[in-house]
Amino acid sequence: MFKDIIRQNSAVEILKAAITNNRCASSYLFTGTEGVGKKLAALSFAQVLNCSDSFGSDACGKCVSCRKIAHGNHPEVQVIVPQKKSISIDQIRSVQKDSFFRPLEARRKIYIIDKAETMTQEAMNCFLKILEEPPRQVIFILITSNILGLLETIVSRCQIIKFNNLPRDIISGFLKEKHGLVEDDASLVASLSGGSIGLALNYWNYGVVENRQDMVKLLDEVSRGNISVLFREAEALSKNKDDIQMVLNLLLSLYRDMLLAKFTAQSKDEEMKDKLLINTELYSSLPEKVEAYSTGKLKDALNVILTTKGLLSKNVNAQLALETMFLKLVEIYGNQPVV
Ligand SMILES: [Zn+2]
Repeated sequence: MFKDIIRQNSAVEILKAAITNNRCASSYLFTGTEGVGKKLAALSFAQVLNCSDSFGSDACGKCVSCRKIAHGNHPEVQVIVPQKKSISIDQIRSVQKDSFFRPLEARRKIYIIDKAETMTQEAMNCFLKILEEPPRQVIFILITSNILGLLETIVSRCQIIKFNNLPRDIISGFLKEKHGLVEDDASLVASLSGGSIGLALNYWNYGVVENRQDMVKLLDEVSRGNISVLFREAEALSKNKDDIQMVLNLLLSLYRDMLLAKFTAQSKDEEMKDKLLINTELYSSLPEKVEAYSTGKLKDALNVILTTKGLLSKNVNAQLALETMFLKLVEIYGNQPVV
């Protein structure tokens, strides 16, 4: 339901207005960072359009149609997701066939294409054909966090709805209220999330608070130049591909905080430090580490990690990329590697 969506007022208002004015587009493109409420908005939109007891511009959430949509078993509100890593031509062809049948249960048939940018070239071309002659009583909702990954001709046929990143305090409040996190944990997770509730929850489920301590130990190994430990870590990490980006973001946040600590070392403004630093709790242990790095070295380290993140998103050999990263970090610190 729209009321469950946090802080996406402009997007939600546009959708509500379309419903109240009875002027829905035949295809929408929801764009914005992963985990800010795009899919929830798409499902809520589908609920209102088909609710049998809708009051105002939100769904009731209780009728058969609303419940089926919420549970993902409404036959005429389909969510298409990538199989393995992409959405195939066969998936889009079956949407094409299916969309020409008149809805039996629903007022409007809805197809939600999640991670639309993962459609293969053939799938995109096929989808474009559907959009060129959209079937009646059907609404397509494409969801993407990378609008540049879509054919321009598809984008131009959709009404684009932008979803914003959420402010840190909103995410932290949500984590405390809905998931029972304590202040320090909520604030750390919110800072790392980059404005995405979905990502914040991923961090939390990953056990970011405990893992952060491990990262600090890793920094110690870097400063000792302890290659064998670092390489073992690279090997372990590379086996757990889902976590790598999170671990690297965590490492990034530590170097970033050391850089900030350098700039704020003279300042007595504790409140400002609290706002800027991600790992506030660790701040007290950072100064001695900070001493060992020049500003230039910290910037170099940040660049090395960012480059590695970029490489890893491109399917390179993860273990090799991580080993190279650790070697470079040791080199930047200025130690001779110890094997
Ligand atoms: Zn309902």
